[in-house]
Amino acid sequence: MKTNPSPKAKDKSLELLRGKGLNVTHPRRKILAYLLDHHGPFSVEEIHQSMGEGFCDLATVYRCLGQFEKKGLVERRYFGDDILRYEYLDHAHHHHHIICTQCKAVTQLDDCDIAKLESMVKDRGYRDVSHTLEFFGVCAKCQP
Ligand SMILES: [Zn+2]
Ligand SMILES: [Zn+2]
Ligand SMILES: [Zn+2]
Repeated sequence: MKTNPSPKAKDKSLELLRGKGLNVTHPRRKILAYLLDHHGPFSVEEIHQSMGEGFCDLATVYRCLGQFEKKGLVERRYFGDDILRYEYLDHAHHHHHIICTQCKAVTQLDDCDIAKLESMVKDRGYRDVSHTLEFFGVCAKCQP
């Protein structure tokens, strides 16, 4: 599978890298553009594979994602296993996921009713409050 990032994602990745003070390297730009084009989350291996054969080694992908995470460009998602998964952290689009425990399909949930809980936490004097929450279940296709 070979991916050519959309022109929009290419431009945006450049802008984001510069905005975060990261040097614009070919792997960084392509990985970020991929995450802008595709809603994840993706494991590091999946991202590496999507870059196309011989693009860069797996360690480079790990390194790039670690740097992106530190700069708040991507977010790590926990799906109850040991696999690291990342997706682009879009502050304008807070959402959750439901993961099928059988086929591992990931569906995005756009609604979040937890704003109330967050404001309760803020009332206790906390700042920069955030939360993560993922759902697990068996999807309709996987039910007998
Ligand atoms: Zn997501
Ligand atoms: Zn399923
Ligand atoms: Zn939420």
